[in-house]
Amino acid sequence: MKRKLLTALIMTAMAHVSAQVTDKMIADDAATTGDVLSWGLGSQGQRFSNLNDVNLKTVSRLVPVWSMSFGGEKQRGQEAQPLVYNGKMFVTASYSRIFALDVKTGEKLWKYEHRLPEGIMPCCDVINRGAALYGNLVIFGTLDAQLIALDQNTGKVVWREKIDDYSAGYSYSAAPLVAEGLLITGLSGGEFGVVGRVEARDPKTGKMVWSRPTVEGHMGYLNGQENGVTGTTNASWPGDTWKTGGATPWLGGTYDAKTGLAYFGTGNPGPWNSHVRKGDNLYSTSTVAIDVKTGKIAWHYQNTPNDGWDYDGVNEFITFDMDGKRVGAKADRNGFFYINDATNGKLLNAFPFVKKVTWATSIDLKTGRPNFAEDNRPGDPTAGDGKKGKSVFAAPGFLGGKNQMPMAYSPKTGLFYVPTNEWGMDIWNEPIAYKKGAAFLGAGFTIKPLFDDHIGSLRAIDPKTGKVAWEVKNNAPLWGGVMTTPELVFWGTPEGYLKAADAKTGKVVWQFQTGSGIVAPPITWKDGNDQYISVVSGWGGAVPLWGGEVAKKVNLLEQGGSVWTFKLVK
Ligand code: CA
Ligand code: CA
Repeated sequence: MKRKLLTALIMTAMAHVSAQVTDKMIADDAATTGDVLSWGLGSQGQRFSNLNDVNLKTVSRLVPVWSMSFGGEKQRGQEAQPLVYNGKMFVTASYSRIFALDVKTGEKLWKYEHRLPEGIMPCCDVINRGAALYGNLVIFGTLDAQLIALDQNTGKVVWREKIDDYSAGYSYSAAPLVAEGLLITGLSGGEFGVVGRVEARDPKTGKMVWSRPTVEGHMGYLNGQENGVTGTTNASWPGDTWKTGGATPWLGGTYDAKTGLAYFGTGNPGPWNSHVRKGDNLYSTSTVAIDVKTGKIAWHYQNTPNDGWDYDGVNEFITFDMDGKRVGAKADRNGFFYINDATNGKLLNAFPFVKKVTWATSIDLKTGRPNFAEDNRPGDPTAGDGKKGKSVFAAPGFLGGKNQMPMAYSPKTGLFYVPTNEWGMDIWNEPIAYKKGAAFLGAGFTIKPLFDDHIGSLRAIDPKTGKVAWEVKNNAPLWGGVMTTPELVFWGTPEGYLKAADAKTGKVVWQFQTGSGIVAPPITWKDGNDQYISVVSGWGGAVPLWGGEVAKKVNLLEQGGSVWTFKLVK
């Protein structure tokens, strides 16, 4: 009997040590409710879970079971989505930290604090959005533009790879994507004239497989060999402007096994002043679909050609089935919601998802191009005194109709749940010259609210009609993400509440105050008989840094840094 018990104990211990996250497990992640293996609760990024123990009838019994503090003096914005696997939660925190916790109790198992050099240049707070799992590794990126893989059980560093030079403005803040046995990452730094690209590595070793620049004119690579220039040099960028073209895919990507394509949104072209780079400036402010096998761009769709407002098009492209077609949806920072054919990029529908959009009157569904309101483009400084171009009031403001906070899609209701913000900005252009490691904007701006009673609004949007089925307004701008289940929608607010609403009506049915602002997306999973819900709390991100007159609405909010986990009391 004793020997049997001992054998069982050893077997259990070995199962824990040898547990491996496989490609199949990652491919099946959205459907498997016992774990959360990817950012987006599945690589399509739908953020939908079929778990329904916590539902309209039971949600009033949802209570915290544990909370864990990231500690230290380092707080600031906490934008991470946790992962759950093999009895552990893996969660990243501000200043390039990562923690492994006992998922049942919140007890800290290990932590890794990356030693950051002086002189890192994150544009929008010292945040991180989460990790990726592969084999026995947990992998995340750092603000000094490195990727680090750690042993899930010990927290020991297994490999580390430099993405690029942080002193030139490169950094990393997204959750890496794993698809078809590849670790696929973008990078950040679009405000510093860096060159955006998507890279695929062997997740076991960190060794590069392919890289694909997202600025037209730059060479791509596959297995160390040249793999074709992106686009055609100088076709959409004049002179040398493509060499500092930005277009960074800083939010990371999604992947759909049905199309074999990874979808990355790209940021603003550099500099912000659009008059010095006349042309479309491909592939900035676009959705770029990359064949993961070849590292080549299969299709692209540009949301804001020749962007002049910092409308980074990095927003997640979520694939789903509509009218018998595989399509993808994106709520772009520029205020329009787009539906593209996921196989070829053809624009199928586009409509505004915020109340005020000034830079374009509509999107032409035949040509796929915006109908620009030309007088809403900030003016060319060389047309006047040479110091400051004509200032315009543009909406959305550059922080966007939606920013980094991911939306969710429910196959049950057919609705997208979109965290939106209503704001505008005074914006003007100034002369600018590229200098390595210096801000490359050539623009000045002040963000302003549009309404007295709210900036944020969680909107349930029908992708077929563009109609808003319901909305829940919020005083401060929404900056966390969304998660949905068959009956409920969960999201956090900067005022500190994790909220749940009826997915059909938007009636708020539950809320809990987490003690600091929420700027991160919630998750759910099931362990034994219990459905759990977790969210990271900790106010920060771009809004308090860049918020202009909006800062007045949020300067009362307190910083923090903790994970909260909830389940139903019987
Ligand atoms: Ca899963
Ligand atoms: Ca930008």
